Amino acid sequence: MFDTLTHSFKGIVNKIRFADDEKSLQRACDELKKTLLRNDVYHKATKDIVQEVQTQTKLKGIGKQNFMQALKDSLTNILQSSKSYGISFSPTPPSVILMMGLQGSGKTTSSAKLALYLKQRGKKVLLVACDLHRLAAIEQLTQLAESIEVDIFTPSQASKPENAIQVAIDAKKKATDAHYDVMIIDSAGRLAIDEVLMNELLEIKKSVNAYECLYVADSLSGQDGIKTAGHFNDKIGIDGVILSKFDSDSKGGIALSIAYQIGVPLKFIGSGEKVADFDIFLPDRIVGRLMGAGDIASLAEKTASVMDQDEAKNIAKKLKKGQFGFEDFIAQIENMKKLGSMSSIASMIPGLGNMASALKNVDLEQSSEIKNIRAMVNSMTKKERENPDILNGSRRKRIAQGSGLEVSDINRIIKQFAQASKLAKKISQKGGMQDLMSMMNHLKIPK
Ligand code: GDP
Repeated sequence: MFDTLTHSFKGIVNKIRFADDEKSLQRACDELKKTLLRNDVYHKATKDIVQEVQTQTKLKGIGKQNFMQALKDSLTNILQSSKSYGISFSPTPPSVILMMGLQGSGKTTSSAKLALYLKQRGKKVLLVACDLHRLAAIEQLTQLAESIEVDIFTPSQASKPENAIQVAIDAKKKATDAHYDVMIIDSAGRLAIDEVLMNELLEIKKSVNAYECLYVADSLSGQDGIKTAGHFNDKIGIDGVILSKFDSDSKGGIALSIAYQIGVPLKFIGSGEKVADFDIFLPDRIVGRLMGAGDIASLAEKTASVMDQDEAKNIAKKLKKGQFGFEDFIAQIENMKKLGSMSSIASMIPGLGNMASALKNVDLEQSSEIKNIRAMVNSMTKKERENPDILNGSRRKRIAQGSGLEVSDINRIIKQFAQASKLAKKISQKGGMQDLMSMMNHLKIPK
């Protein structure tokens, strides 16, 4: 979602030649102001950012570097409205998390994403389907819960919409008796602010003593979304915001505006339809992404949660020695599928931010190239998979026949693979991959 802002920020510094004078700084600041406003950043926040950037750049000396640093500091300041990142847990489990938001904002999806995130960090999680106004929501949550293998509490068939509070109370009893660490309530959505439903939410919050009330904000919702969030905050109290559809083509301003106008911490971002497309919101990382610097730490954290560490070390070793074979390649594709969509992976790698939008529709499962590679690998002997160097003409011909591909396809795939592993070897020897791997080993995942 920050695509627009990232492009514009790059545009500002590239367009303006700093001649080390105040006039060019003023021009850069005017451009910055226009960019922020165009991207839905609240006008008062815009004013503050521009003023701060101007003052700091002057102080440190007018130049591209200082301008970008001042902008980075200013954005980080705004997003760092609170030090409470991630979920805080109640001293007496279960910690009850109440999810709320407008219908279609991504509440049900985010409930499942959060459940998976916590499960991967060792928590025993119970999902609770409390949207009795829309039966399809119960079915949707049930399917999601099954797919991530998390337990779910559903209301009995006879439950009426007004029983939502009782359902929450019954669920809490189950969660307490069965020693769950966390219970996540997916509440009824609202098409717009609706006082009856608001009161229901408030009652649920009180009756189960919700420890965290999380508001799911659609990245596309603009200033209207901020107003709605403000209303929820006044009426129920918001402990944190989950920004969904971060991958969409929205303007980037909503993240800054929520932090600035409502003053509640942004806790997580959802960046795709898959349950794995979910990250903790850490201001400096997001600012890095916003400014096109990528987000390697998030990627490493994600990779660590799907890949076991011995495997990661083993792969790093193979890459370094140039012994990365086709079998490893296919195994990595399986791992990448668990990481989420290609575009969200790309947006986290420095320099690949621009590629993220191009990869938006790449589905690893459906990609014909991946299917070709799979077919090819299936027709190879174990020795050939481990040592692609022995693939001479006759072997290639045999593999082409076995996989139903042309020899030219086989040649192309082998060439691409060789280039990729050469590049990977280079990166790993320079320390890049090693850094990534050691980061994964030492990473302390914030709670
Ligand atoms: P709810 O009515 O608030 O429970 O919303 P849902 O969870 O049903 O989500 C509404 C739609 O948005 C669904 O089609 C989801 O797949 C989609 N969605 C949710 N989160 C994301 C996200 O982070 N990115 C994208 N692209 N789509 C999302």
